[in-house]
Amino acid sequence: MPGGSHPQNVFTVDLEEWFHVCGVGGPLAPDQWDGLPSRVESTTRRVLDLLDAAGIRATFFIVGWVAERHPRLVDEVRSAGHEIGSHGYAHQRVFDLGSDGFLRDLRASVSALKQAGVPDVRLFRAPEWSINRRSLWALDVLAGEGFSVDASMAPLRLVGDESYPRFPHMRRAGAGRILEVPPLVADRFGHVMPMGWGWGLRMSSPRRVVRAIAAENRLGRPAVLTLHPWEIDPDPPRARLPPGLHFAHYFRLGGFLGRLREVLRSGVGFGPVGQVTAIGEVL
Ligand SMILES: [Zn+2]
Repeated sequence: MPGGSHPQNVFTVDLEEWFHVCGVGGPLAPDQWDGLPSRVESTTRRVLDLLDAAGIRATFFIVGWVAERHPRLVDEVRSAGHEIGSHGYAHQRVFDLGSDGFLRDLRASVSALKQAGVPDVRLFRAPEWSINRRSLWALDVLAGEGFSVDASMAPLRLVGDESYPRFPHMRRAGAGRILEVPPLVADRFGHVMPMGWGWGLRMSSPRRVVRAIAAENRLGRPAVLTLHPWEIDPDPPRARLPPGLHFAHYFRLGGFLGRLREVLRSGVGFGPVGQVTAIGEVL
């Protein structure tokens, strides 16, 4: 491993298709997905090569719909030594599904992963960080289904809440507890910004991302980074997204792979979510 350090940070991949965008209809509606060009195999293999070159074992949160159609890809991810979690079955926002719908979607995702050969699924990340004050009941559902880790609550106003802890912590969930592992954010220009994922990782220089990781580590906290396979697609099917979503989806992807490589080779240690332990009081 570069730097030879213990993997105190976390690298995650949300394994989904380029068209798994929440809340859109028309040509990208779920009932159209089977007719759209699939890019997930080639882009995921690029992610696997990237992680292999950097000596990183990560956690892949896999969409059940993808696992069902590409079981061999799930097997490749597992064989490469990565940890597997659920990213829902139909990539729907948790608060849109409601409690019963979420339970059904979660069980379908677990069943698809098991069909693809994953023996045990105990880690979850919601599409679009959609466990927040509108859907905290989802933690009870997860704990009830035997999940031990959730990585869905972003300490960010746009998709979560700035008051959420920025470090892994235990939350009471129904009769049990669940370990909540939030994504990396940083304070910039008087705002809380995503840093190790989404626009943050795309907008920031590798040096700034590495500095943000080091700042968390100095506080004794792991930094959690997240990548989507479609973000490193060399030939993305751009024309199909509506204009606003096109921006969110593809904003500043040019040169992204090179910047990401620099972060991964900077000597920062990364590992899977499963190695993380809670910090602080139970919430
Ligand atoms: Zn997603």
